[in-house]
Amino acid sequence: MMLLNMPLPSAMPSATQALTSGQSNVPYTTQQYRKRKEEREQSGSGKRKYVKKTDAIIYKNCNKDRKPPAHLQYFGNWYCKESETQSYEDWRAVLEQRGYGKKKRGDAP
Ligand SMILES: [Zn+2]
Repeated sequence: MMLLNMPLPSAMPSATQALTSGQSNVPYTTQQYRKRKEEREQSGSGKRKYVKKTDAIIYKNCNKDRKPPAHLQYFGNWYCKESETQSYEDWRAVLEQRGYGKKKRGDAP
């Protein structure tokens, strides 16, 4: 009486062999095609990608997005909470002294 249900440990399929042979057997023409394709992609084939103008405006004083609430605009001037040393009120007062935001009050000399 023989045991026919014994598993056979040596019957493993050689998957590694199939992998390595597949990589080394790339035809020369295919290699050239891949190379050209790569070069074309790198050069952009003459087509320039349209670079979208970024929405973020970087404020030069802090190199960050010039966005509220850290940034306040006052009559075309920008106040940056992070890089400005004076308070917003003081900063605005300076602009007001320069004439920003003033309506004609008739108090000119
Ligand atoms: Zn800022």
